Amino acid sequence: MAIIVCGHKNPDTDSIAAAIAIADLLTKRGMAAKPVAQGAVNPESKFVLDKFGLPAPEIVTDASGQKIALVDHSDLAQSLDNLAKGEIVGIYDHHKLGDVTTPNPLEMWVWPVGCTGTVINSMYKFYGIEIPKNIAGITLCSILSDTVMYKSVTCTEADKKAVAELAKIAGVSDVMALGMEMFKVKSAVEGTPMRDLVFRDYKDFDMSGKKVGIGQLEVVDLAILEPYKDKLLAEIKKVKEEGKRHSVFLLLTDIMKEGSLMLIASDDPSVVEKAYGKAPDGPTIWLDGVMSRKKQVVPNFEKAFGK
Ligand code: MG
Ligand code: MG
Ligand code: MG
Repeated sequence: MAIIVCGHKNPDTDSIAAAIAIADLLTKRGMAAKPVAQGAVNPESKFVLDKFGLPAPEIVTDASGQKIALVDHSDLAQSLDNLAKGEIVGIYDHHKLGDVTTPNPLEMWVWPVGCTGTVINSMYKFYGIEIPKNIAGITLCSILSDTVMYKSVTCTEADKKAVAELAKIAGVSDVMALGMEMFKVKSAVEGTPMRDLVFRDYKDFDMSGKKVGIGQLEVVDLAILEPYKDKLLAEIKKVKEEGKRHSVFLLLTDIMKEGSLMLIASDDPSVVEKAYGKAPDGPTIWLDGVMSRKKQVVPNFEKAFGK
């Protein structure tokens, strides 16, 4: 039975590229494996896969009876349904360790770097396996995406070094131009249902027993989202109520201005002031310099919620 390699819900480019790369690596190390995803690929990932001629992974949402390798997450809330009815054999990630447990020993490569792709580049070298050209291409894109072209506080020297190495293999001469092209695709929102925008890059968290959702839209210019702000606010209110969540926050991140406008739907909006030391302006707050959900949003709210 092939190991299924799977990223988080609402897959981003790292979750897709890492699943494809880890499946390739495991297979070449003699373990049958295939990449899967918990949902359809987003427009950015589709652009990246098309660019390097790779198909989107098959969609799988249930782990029952499967051998599973997790990439780009280790949180139950972000993982496959019925994870406990499958067997996790590996975790490859760059987030804080989540709440999954395993009955058996497993392989873990979890590093504090900007992207799973950076860990994977080192894995190929460790195992002495050549990374295929097209997988090098999608992996370098995943690093540019996760680190917001090196602007995110999550970005490390290891990420930049990995991009340089992968660019040579993939034959990409101007990585920043490719990154910009990718972020322009990501910024295109016209004609997309509000619900899809909210869930495009969205994660649920358990914060001191409260269900909290945090989504993020990264655009090259916040003005692109200005006409949709009220509709997005109405949509996150609906998402909050339907999912019995305490709060839903949506970060509208301007990657050029390097900050985020946070849209707020919460049973207790004072958590935002607790998290950032300033009161929101109605249902929104501008957070200068805040671009990383993982480092600048999740920990602040975990503290504010009293964890
Ligand atoms: Mg991710
Ligand atoms: Mg990632
Ligand atoms: Mg991201």
